[in-house]
Amino acid sequence: MDQVRLPLIRGNEPFGAIVERMRAANAAAVVRRTGQRFYVHGLGELLARQQTRNGWARDIQSEASLWRGAPTTFESGRGLLQTFFDTTAFNYLILEVRDADVLVVTRSEDMVRAIARAVVVCTCQRNDRHVFDPTDVRTPGTCNQCFGSLNCN
Ligand SMILES: [Zn+2]
Repeated sequence: MDQVRLPLIRGNEPFGAIVERMRAANAAAVVRRTGQRFYVHGLGELLARQQTRNGWARDIQSEASLWRGAPTTFESGRGLLQTFFDTTAFNYLILEVRDADVLVVTRSEDMVRAIARAVVVCTCQRNDRHVFDPTDVRTPGTCNQCFGSLNCN
C-alpha cells in the first residue's frame, strides 16, 4: 500500500491541459470522475486515447473505490485500508476528493512508484494526434508516424 495525490479531470478536458496538470503534479496518471464513479488513467492510456481519439475505455481494472466512512488518513487507517484491499478486487481507493485533485491509496507500493514521476511527452509539430512516450520514439526527435519533428518536454 502507498498513497499518491492525482489530478482530478473532467472527461472533456483537452489532452494538452491534462498533460500540463500531470506535469504540475509530478504524476503520470489522472483520475476521471463520472457521476459517483472514479477511474485512474495512466499516461500510456492517455497517449493512446489522443492518438485514436476514441472514447474513454470502460476498464473496470482502473475503477477506484471511494472510501465512505469516518475520516481516515493513510497513517491512521492502515489496518482498515489493508483489509479493504485484502477483501475486494479494487486496486485504488480514494480517501479524499478536492476540486482539482484526489488522494488515492494504491494496493501496492509499485503502483505509486510507476505513477509518481516526471511526465515527458513527445508531440509532433505536424499533427497533435502524434504523441509518444519518449521511450517509444524510434528515431530521436522524429515522429514515428509522419517523420515530422518532435517536441519532447
Ligand atoms: Zn507526426
